[in-house]
Amino acid sequence: MPVKNRFAELLPEIKAWRHDLHENPEILFDTHRTSAIVEEKLKAFGCDEVVTGLGRTGVVGVIKGKSNKSGKVIGLRADMDALPILEQADVPYKSKVDGAMHACGHDGHTSMLLGAAKYLSETRNFDGTVVLIFQPAEEGGGGGREMCEDGLMERWGIQEVYGMHNWPGLPTGQFAIRSGPFFASADQFDIVVEGKGGHAAKPYLTIDTTVVASQIVVALQTIASRNVKPIDKIVVSITSFETSSKAYNVIPQTVHLRGTMRAMSEETRQLAMRRLHEIAEGTAAAYGATADVDFRDGYPVMVNSDEQTEFAAKVATSVAGDCAEAEMTMGGEDFAFMSNERPGAYILVGNGDSADVHHPEYVFDDEAMPAGCSWWAEIVEQRMPAA
Ligand SMILES: [Zn+2]
Ligand SMILES: [Zn+2]
Repeated sequence: MPVKNRFAELLPEIKAWRHDLHENPEILFDTHRTSAIVEEKLKAFGCDEVVTGLGRTGVVGVIKGKSNKSGKVIGLRADMDALPILEQADVPYKSKVDGAMHACGHDGHTSMLLGAAKYLSETRNFDGTVVLIFQPAEEGGGGGREMCEDGLMERWGIQEVYGMHNWPGLPTGQFAIRSGPFFASADQFDIVVEGKGGHAAKPYLTIDTTVVASQIVVALQTIASRNVKPIDKIVVSITSFETSSKAYNVIPQTVHLRGTMRAMSEETRQLAMRRLHEIAEGTAAAYGATADVDFRDGYPVMVNSDEQTEFAAKVATSVAGDCAEAEMTMGGEDFAFMSNERPGAYILVGNGDSADVHHPEYVFDDEAMPAGCSWWAEIVEQRMPAA
C-alpha cells in the first residue's frame, strides 16, 4: 500500500498552498493570515466543525467518518509558524517578509495536513472522528501548551495524538521514529547576579559580579559532569553574558546570564534545575553577591508512547516500504504538551539533502508531501477501519 494515488493528483495544488504560505511567513502567535487560510480551506473541504482561537491563533477542524461505531477520536497535529530568519534560499517563492522565513518547514507541515484533510473529507472511509490541529508558536512560544490549556483534548474527547516533522538528512519521503524519549526538554533561564559595582582600581571596595558570574558559568558545567549520571543526557549552555557597564574602568553592579537546558527525562530535568539554583545562588553567596534564577517557557521531554509508535511505524512502512529507527535529538518540540496529555507518536519524514532546519538556505522538499499526506490518511484509515 504505497503512496495514495489521490495525493499524487493533489500534489500541484498542495504545493501551491505551501508556496503561498512560504511567501508569507508569520512568527509565533502572529499566524493570522495562515490561520485564516487554514480555516477557509477546512470549511471549503466540508469539515463538520471548524473552530478558531484555541491557543490564540490555533485552528481545529473535525471530520467524522462514514460511521462512528468505534467511538474513537484521533488528533492529528501540524504547526504553522515561521522563524525570524532572513531567507537565503534560491527558490521562486522566496519569503516576501523581510526577516521572516519558513526555515523549519512548518509551511510544508500545514500543507500536508490540509492535503490529508481534503482527502479525508472527500472519502470519510473510516469509523470514528478525526480532529485536525493547526497550532501556532511551536518555535519557543508554547502554542501547543496554550491549545491544551484552552481545553483541546477534553473538548473533542481526543484519545490519541500524532505529529510529524520533516527531517533533512533522511531520504525524501522515508520515515524514522523511535519509542520513548525522543525530543529533549528545553528550558530557557536567566540568572541575574547582583554585587556591588565600583571603581576598577579599587576592587576591594566592590563585590565583583564579573568574577562571581564567571565562577557560576564554570560551576554550572559540573551539572553534566558531576551531578547527572553519565548515561543520562543533559545539556546546560550559557549563551549570553551581559555586564551592566561596558566601561574599561568600572566593575559592573550586575551581570545578566542567559542560557538553555536540555534533558531527556523529567527526573534529570528536575535534578538539573535544582542544581542550577543551588550552584548559582550558593556561588553568589560565597562571594557576598546574590543570584536571581528565573526559568521560562519550558517544553517538557517529548515521549513517544510504545503502542502508538509501533502503529505509526507500521503505517509508515505501508507507505514507504520501511521505517528507520530515529536517533534521540536534544532539540525541543512543543508537541510534548499534547503527547503528555494523551498517548501519541511523533514521526520524522525525510527531507533529503537540504540545508538543516533553522538555516537560511533550508528548502522544504515538496516531493516528501505525497508520503507525508499518505501517512496522515493511513493513520486514520488503519486505526479506525471503515465498519
Ligand atoms: Zn524549528
Ligand atoms: Zn519545526
